[in-house]
Amino acid sequence: MEVKRLKTDVLVIGGGMAGWLAADSAVKAGADVIMCDKGYIGKCGQSVYARDFFVCNPEWGDDAEKISEKVNIAGEYLTNRYWSELVLNESLEIYKELDSWDFGFVKNEDGTPTRNDKIGDFPVLILGGSGMNVNKFKDTHGYKARKHMLDIGVKLLDRVMMVKYLMDGGRVKGACGISVDSDDVYVIEAGSVIACTGGCGLRPVGYSCVASSTGDGERMAYEIGGELVGKEFPQPMRSTVENPCVLGGRALEKDNGMTVNSAFPVVNPKLWKMGGENFKGHEGKNSVYPFAYLDLEQETHLGNGPVTAAVDGNEMRIVSGGALGMSVRKADGIWPADHECRSNIPGLFAAGDALGTMQNGALYLLCGGSVAGCAVTGKIAGEAAAKEAKEAESRLSEETIDQAVKEVWAPRERKSGYSPSWIMQILHNTMAPYFISYVKKGDRLQGALSYVEFV
Ligand SMILES: Cc1cc2nc3c(=O)[nH]c(=O)nc-3n(C[C@H](O)[C@H](O)[C@H](O)COP(=O)(O)OP(=O)(O)OC[C@H]3O[C@@H](n4cnc5c(N)ncnc54)[C@H](O)[C@@H]3O)c2cc1C
Repeated sequence: MEVKRLKTDVLVIGGGMAGWLAADSAVKAGADVIMCDKGYIGKCGQSVYARDFFVCNPEWGDDAEKISEKVNIAGEYLTNRYWSELVLNESLEIYKELDSWDFGFVKNEDGTPTRNDKIGDFPVLILGGSGMNVNKFKDTHGYKARKHMLDIGVKLLDRVMMVKYLMDGGRVKGACGISVDSDDVYVIEAGSVIACTGGCGLRPVGYSCVASSTGDGERMAYEIGGELVGKEFPQPMRSTVENPCVLGGRALEKDNGMTVNSAFPVVNPKLWKMGGENFKGHEGKNSVYPFAYLDLEQETHLGNGPVTAAVDGNEMRIVSGGALGMSVRKADGIWPADHECRSNIPGLFAAGDALGTMQNGALYLLCGGSVAGCAVTGKIAGEAAAKEAKEAESRLSEETIDQAVKEVWAPRERKSGYSPSWIMQILHNTMAPYFISYVKKGDRLQGALSYVEFV
């Protein structure tokens, strides 16, 4: 084992939309920035898959007030309107910023951005190079963001997984982690740290691309007394009877020429213009939720699964229970202790899906608002963290560092035990049948917990 030691003003953990904006704004505020990711920055996390980007611009005829109201209703009035309105108001500036990075927004002939008119009443721009097409990596916005990071002098550490925040005098002063590929342990001292580690999404099937969303930033924060929020609002995604291992949307795209995020065609017609009235849930019932698949999940819990539905007049059979987790995009995460994305632990900031802003409330309706929201909180966190880093002394005691290295390395010293992949398999097997991510039924929860305790 070799210990690699680095020092910076701001450490950004996670290289997705939140991390990109956090790093950019921290650099603009005069900070040195290190960004690390357990994957390869630009090819990992959820951000590389996003296609829709929400932008509200009154000059294009968008009515911020109306949109805000809709989001609030859909979110069961649990929306935190400070954050949702911030996304609405800041989205245009964020679009302009990303466009200046040559981010790949699809454009009309006159140079204006193309709007996705399939997305109901919501003003959504299209990201051309979304997805993980490794053969066309240079066309993706992941690549464009990576390039921008390098252009502005952010030091990138690929495939380094942070495991522990480093504390001194009650303040986070860096983080310690391991290389995914070698026997190196990394100790990064920083004036402030921003957790941009993404959502917490256990997806047994159908959503393999979010395998890296394991809530690490939250887990590390919890370990040092960080307050977390949410977890009661899941985001189940349906899959199909024909192919339960594929996210329903993708199957729909193939069969009906619909779009990837086609969870949306099965929404309440009062809130969404597409599809709604054609949707029939179990025994022909109409959905009361804008995201009808939440109904489907409940029907399954009641023993009525698999549930079928017709979408837009097509006989499309849908079964619920395909995938769960990831929460409702920002309905869980590190608790925002203030409006500058600080956690309750000094020195630790959070942004993106790792920050529980409740911008969407209990249901996600603001299509494209997920990445836009990550960008907004990333930008805010980056500015504030850079400012604070300048004031903070980032020196750590050798004793603290030695202890952290020992703890982080300890699992690698074990001679026997269960492998991480075996544990993950067991957790998947346990949580999916019990639906414990979202049904808080005492007996199911107890059953699952007993098993987890044993593991
Ligand atoms: C298929 C798909 C399509 C989507 N489409 C859209 C869309 O069209 N519009 C929209 O608005 N939203 C969309 N979303 C949701 C949106 O992509 C996410 O909400 C958003 O990208 C989250 O950004 P983030 O920066 O918070 O996290 P992420 O982009 O997930 O980045 C987090 C990063 O942190 C890294 N990380 C985690 N733990 C550690 C650790 N311990 N050490 C080091 N690195 C770590 C991960 O590897 C990851 O790269 C989609 C999601 C998926 C999966």
